[in-house]
Amino acid sequence: MAHLKTRAEIEKMRQAGRVVHKAIHTAGCAIAPGVTTAKLEDIASQIISDSGGSSPFLGYAPSGHPPFPAWTCISVNTQIVHGVPSDIALREGDIVTIDCGVELDGWIADSAWTFPVGDVSPIAQKLLQVTHASLFKGIGEARRGHRIGDIGWAIQRYAESHGFSVVRELTGHGVGKTLHEGLQIPNYGRRGKGTPIQAGMTLAIEPMLNAGKRDISVLDDKWTIVTADGSLSAHFEHTVAVTISGTEILTNGE
Ligand code: MG
Ligand code: MG
Repeated sequence: MAHLKTRAEIEKMRQAGRVVHKAIHTAGCAIAPGVTTAKLEDIASQIISDSGGSSPFLGYAPSGHPPFPAWTCISVNTQIVHGVPSDIALREGDIVTIDCGVELDGWIADSAWTFPVGDVSPIAQKLLQVTHASLFKGIGEARRGHRIGDIGWAIQRYAESHGFSVVRELTGHGVGKTLHEGLQIPNYGRRGKGTPIQAGMTLAIEPMLNAGKRDISVLDDKWTIVTADGSLSAHFEHTVAVTISGTEILTNGE
């Protein structure tokens, strides 16, 4: 079960969330054709270490995986999530996702953002807009008295109504003292199903939408997950806290 946080614990997570926001968006401001994803990793990791934080991604090693080798996951174009920063330069028209977690004083926050590199195609623009909006559809359901299935239901309905598919194999999750705290939050589902949402829950909600079919493949590095059909994919994530009176986003820099 999800550990229900106190107000003081939520504020600790917000402190971590501020560092996450700064790392993602400072790196995001450096995105341009010719910049490598390793450079974005350098910018983000410097901000995290300067803030006294650490990365829950670095060295993360679920069974069957080698330890993850970076502070951020950076995923380009057909890469959905868990891309490894590299010396390959971004090109005009790419889309690039920076996914970043920070642990600060024992508490973790997690967020991801997909950015355009220069001018991108109309389909890429639409994919970014719809995936971003689907995150907020999901967050809107993350309220006391609702159920976890309501979140995925809202994301899936919105995404599919715009012609995009929802990745099934990867989900959002509870987050707190550990990166993945029990609860899974699928980005598809049925209204009124799943675990009841309670005040004090802290959730990482993270729709991953593909421009083509929803199926995935894993690259030989055993980390990078790509669309099976070679279509573009986008990913937006916030860590939120459910409270008595509503839902607070902890990774929006506020
Ligand atoms: Mg993340
Ligand atoms: Mg996450």
